[in-house]
Amino acid sequence: MDLSYWELETFFRNRQLVVIGSGIVGLNAAIAYKKSNPGANVLVLERGILPLGASTKNAGFACFGSVSELLADFSKMPENVVLETVEMRLNGLKRLRKVVGDKAMDFRNHGGFEVFDDVKKFEKCADEVSALNKKLKTVTGRKETFLVDTKKISEFGMKGFSKLIESPLEGQIDTGKMMKRLLEIAVSSGIMILNNITVTGILQNKKGVELEINEGFKMQCENVIVATNGFARSLLPELKVIPARAQVLVTKPIRNLKLKGTFHYDEGFYYFRNINERVLFGGGRNLDLKTEETDQFGLTEKIQSQLNKILSEKILPGKKYEIDHRWSGIMGLGAEKKPIIKKLSKNIVVAVRMGGMGVAIGSLVGERAATALL
Ligand SMILES: Cc1cc2nc3c(=O)[nH]c(=O)nc-3n(C[C@H](O)[C@H](O)[C@H](O)COP(=O)(O)OP(=O)(O)OC[C@H]3O[C@@H](n4cnc5c(N)ncnc54)[C@H](O)[C@@H]3O)c2cc1C
Repeated sequence: MDLSYWELETFFRNRQLVVIGSGIVGLNAAIAYKKSNPGANVLVLERGILPLGASTKNAGFACFGSVSELLADFSKMPENVVLETVEMRLNGLKRLRKVVGDKAMDFRNHGGFEVFDDVKKFEKCADEVSALNKKLKTVTGRKETFLVDTKKISEFGMKGFSKLIESPLEGQIDTGKMMKRLLEIAVSSGIMILNNITVTGILQNKKGVELEINEGFKMQCENVIVATNGFARSLLPELKVIPARAQVLVTKPIRNLKLKGTFHYDEGFYYFRNINERVLFGGGRNLDLKTEETDQFGLTEKIQSQLNKILSEKILPGKKYEIDHRWSGIMGLGAEKKPIIKKLSKNIVVAVRMGGMGVAIGSLVGERAATALL
């Protein structure tokens, strides 16, 4: 099929910016660029019928790290790098709340809780809380970013965990509503979004950037932002991004559900929260890291049966509930727990590798990618 003159003129020609990927990063990049450059013709190309990666699949934790996660980070990375990442997550969340609005994405500040079933692991973390709070004070502005509270656990109706560390700054959002609002903001500010278009090639040339689309058709534009996260290597194989699948389930509404907030378990490998009287529960990638290092969506018996077990034995013991739905999403990870925001050439910027923190940092990363071109 050949595109008509009208199709080429209206949809593909004279674009100052093309963003590849309509996840949280791509949409924020497009919105930030258009805001600073209102006359610019901005186009977002998305291969899925919806944004199909992680941004519409995640758990919606507006979080900046649990105690065990941060302690692990401090043991692997220099202190200033860990603190910078925490600061980026906090600032990113502030920015997301400003751009999208709390009401539009149903932001709730129910707090976050790291739960433990192993007393030794708990004690190791609890012993570090006061030193950790001191380090984080410069970033969070709070004397107590984390609180050790072993009584609260009984309020949530869980029997499988005996100890808890609270993170009062943590919140939760409705991920679907957040993405819907970002799409609305983009379209209402004059950004065009085309779905079902896969970019298969990207080349800097003298006039700007040439994109190859859906195996064959080529378009020329001035600038490009690549925001394809876990799929980054299929377009730019040199990037150090490892795809990582994460599996999730959600229950049907549960009567008298006491659980409220965002919960981290087993060093963050498992996470659960309340949403509309239901429990959303995900994780278990650590059971089968090699298989889950993939950019293919899918569910596995090994991980789903472990999610079932933890849900029935630890999170909802004695409760009647049914599983409503299961799904997976693809993240972009790396040896370093830091996003890649980089100018690859004069007109190409890449903004990928959000790890498990894209809800928190995605809007800021998108803005920084746009700034790199402006
Ligand atoms: C199950 C799960 C739970 C998570 N929970 C949380 C959480 O609670 N809190 C948190 O902060 N983070 C969480 N994350 C991580 C967070 O969702 C991601 O970091 C974030 O959504 C990444 O956004 P993105 O825009 O970079 O990537 P994506 O949302 O993956 O967007 C990339 C887009 O690019 C498109 N694309 C890819 N290749 C091409 C191509 N060649 N041409 C055109 N389009 C292309 C894809 O279809 C996709 O829509 C979770 C992730 C998962 C999977």
